[in-house]
Amino acid sequence: MADGKFAAEVACMQCLLDDRTVVRAHRIYEGDETDRYRCEKGYVFGLDWRSPATEPQWPPPADLLDGLKA
Ligand SMILES: [Zn+2]
Repeated sequence: MADGKFAAEVACMQCLLDDRTVVRAHRIYEGDETDRYRCEKGYVFGLDWRSPATEPQWPPPADLLDGLKA
C-alpha cells in the first residue's frame, strides 16, 4: 500500500492546476509508492506518497483552498 486510508480521496491535481477548481478524486489503484486516482470529471492521475499523509486528504486542507484564491 502507498498511503492507506488517509488518501482514499484527494483533491484532483489536474483540475486544480488547469481549472483552479477543487474536484474530488477517488483512488482507483494503490501501488507501492504511487497511487492512481480518477476525479469526478474523469481525469486520471498519479500521486507519489513517499511521505505518507498523516491526516485525511479530503476535504482538502484550508491552505490549499487559500492558495486557489491568491
Ligand atoms: Zn480532475
